[in-house]
Amino acid sequence: MLASGNTSCGYSPQQLRSMQLDDDCIGQILRAKEQEQQPSTNFAKSQPISFRRLLQQWDQLIIHDGVLYRLFHHHSKEQISLQLIVPTVLREEIVKQMHEGVASGHLGQDKTLHHLKERFYWPGHYNDVRDWCQTCATCASNTLFKVTTRFNIS
Ligand SMILES: [Zn+2]
Repeated sequence: MLASGNTSCGYSPQQLRSMQLDDDCIGQILRAKEQEQQPSTNFAKSQPISFRRLLQQWDQLIIHDGVLYRLFHHHSKEQISLQLIVPTVLREEIVKQMHEGVASGHLGQDKTLHHLKERFYWPGHYNDVRDWCQTCATCASNTLFKVTTRFNIS
C-alpha cells in the first residue's frame, strides 16, 4: 500500500520543484528522470558523491507532481511511502523541524532520524541529523543542567 505523498513541510509542489531544480545534484537527477535517461557511470564519476548516491537509487526515485521523491519501504509496516528528496537549501529547516517540531520537543538523534525518514531523504541526512543534535544549543544546555543538578545532589 502506498501512503499518501504528504509533503506538508509548508511548500507547494511548484516551490519544491523549483528548489530541486536549483539544486545542482538534485536538479540534474530530476531532469534525467523526467527524460528517463539514466546518467552514465562515466558521467557520474565527474560528479560529487551526493550525485552518485542519488543515482545509485535510480530505480527507487519517482516523480510525483513534478517533484522528485524516493520510494521508502518500511521494515515494520507493509507500506511504502514517498520521501521528499530535500534540496540543500531546505535541509537545515527540515532537520530543525523534525528535531524540535514535535510536541515533546527536542528529540534525541534516533527519534529525530526516525521522524525524518518517514517523509524525507537526502544523501548525507544521517550525518546532518547527528551534527544538528550534537550542536543544538538547547539540548546542550539541558544536558548541562542535568549534569549540574546531579553534582549538586551528591
Ligand atoms: Zn535540541
